[in-house]
Amino acid sequence: MHNKSITELAADLRAGDYSSVELTQYFLDRIQRMDAGLNSFVTVCSDEALSAAQAADRQLQAGQGGLLTGIPIAHKDIFCTKGIRTTCGSKMLENFISPYDATVVTRLKAAGVVNLGKTNMDEFAMGSSNETSYYGPVRNPWDTETVPGGSSGGSAACVAARLAPAATGTDTGGSIRQPAALCGITGLKPTYGRVSRYGMIAFASSLDQAGPMTTSAADAAILLQAMAGFDERDSTSADQPVPDYSAGLEDDLTGLKIGLPKEYFGEGLDDAVAKSVEEAIAEYRKLGAEVIEISLPNTHLAVPTYYVVAPAECSSNLSRFDGVRYGHRCEDPKDLEDLYKRSRAEGFGDEVKRRILIGTYALSAGYYDAYYLKAQKIRHLISDDFTQAFKQVDVIMGPTAPDTGFRIGERAGDPVSMYLSDIYTIAVNLAGLPGISIPAAPANGKPAGLQIIGNYFAEAKLLNVAHRLQMATDYHKAAPANLGQ
Ligand code: GLN
Repeated sequence: MHNKSITELAADLRAGDYSSVELTQYFLDRIQRMDAGLNSFVTVCSDEALSAAQAADRQLQAGQGGLLTGIPIAHKDIFCTKGIRTTCGSKMLENFISPYDATVVTRLKAAGVVNLGKTNMDEFAMGSSNETSYYGPVRNPWDTETVPGGSSGGSAACVAARLAPAATGTDTGGSIRQPAALCGITGLKPTYGRVSRYGMIAFASSLDQAGPMTTSAADAAILLQAMAGFDERDSTSADQPVPDYSAGLEDDLTGLKIGLPKEYFGEGLDDAVAKSVEEAIAEYRKLGAEVIEISLPNTHLAVPTYYVVAPAECSSNLSRFDGVRYGHRCEDPKDLEDLYKRSRAEGFGDEVKRRILIGTYALSAGYYDAYYLKAQKIRHLISDDFTQAFKQVDVIMGPTAPDTGFRIGERAGDPVSMYLSDIYTIAVNLAGLPGISIPAAPANGKPAGLQIIGNYFAEAKLLNVAHRLQMATDYHKAAPANLGQ
């Protein structure tokens, strides 16, 4: 059952081969048996899952419901879930029970999904390896000595290990695509504004975007269909119609123009990853696509720009965690200032503190123009690079990450080398564009990702392009073998 797609599971549920309760129990058993070695879940909600499955079974028996009715999934622990703990990977929110559901959660519930639990993540989504979580690192199911990527590492690892058929994730600078690449799954970061941010704990509001993490592009289309759409509770939500994401999945690619940015294939890219990406591009040539070299000349400025903009926004967003309104409160505060200081000192981990310090500095009166304003200007230049490129090509392709999963602890003491893990993903967030990572051929015996970037609201095109490769190759079907299935 665990290797089946959402479409197959939905057909089996309808045929009565098994019930949603049986399917849910099956995945809960796998989590119980296999997650101790991975740590991909922070909270498993067996009781809630089984009662949601019962409700789904009643709907199915009545001949009602849609493709997602009764399908179990997992949510990244950044999405508020009513009555279920939402930690955001932090000690700060260790005991936080949200009084409401995030819009993503509400919409998926309305579509009939069953929530198996909340997945582990870097603290407040800050990281590229899942090592900053207060709940311990997540291990990559392909090699448990290595990281799964971050910050949606728990979602990526649980889908890769087939502990859930699909999961939600969020991507501020690469956090859906990079862990998808390192774990050998499909991860889609939609256009900024496509999916509501309401109830998604904010990291950097002008960059954050939620999306699906699945074993195939076809499944991502189904999940995105339920997640996407205008939400009046998110002021940056796009009031644009949601197309049928599954309708054009098999469209022919003859004449598709693929741009390969020369800046994505230079220094710093692992040779084996480069080879996998080239192999995938050769497949696209066979499918009738035309490949054109392009340039995104401001690529080298993406990481420094992001590390001004994202910390600036996070320093402001995270000021709400003050020991009064939410989360951790220190013992016996002497006065208000002591309450703020100690609650925050105790509740946040090192990476979060580093970002708050950088962001506060960048926004301070004396440095605002030199750093924040400058970064915003460069952000425009980065967007313009893509605008120019999309005059010439339909999609842009390259590696998702510069290398494959590295060893746990290897980069923990070197934030700059960690930050470079997102060198190919960050510009997409700065521009607000959609991007998808799909498995390419393994590199160094580990998963490697092909990234496909599209123009604004071109999710359907990205899913089509991704699905055609998955029709022609089996890269996405490989699952880690060493877990004692
Ligand atoms: N790795 C990047 C960071 O640490 C991106 C994280 C994300 O996309 N949430 O900020």
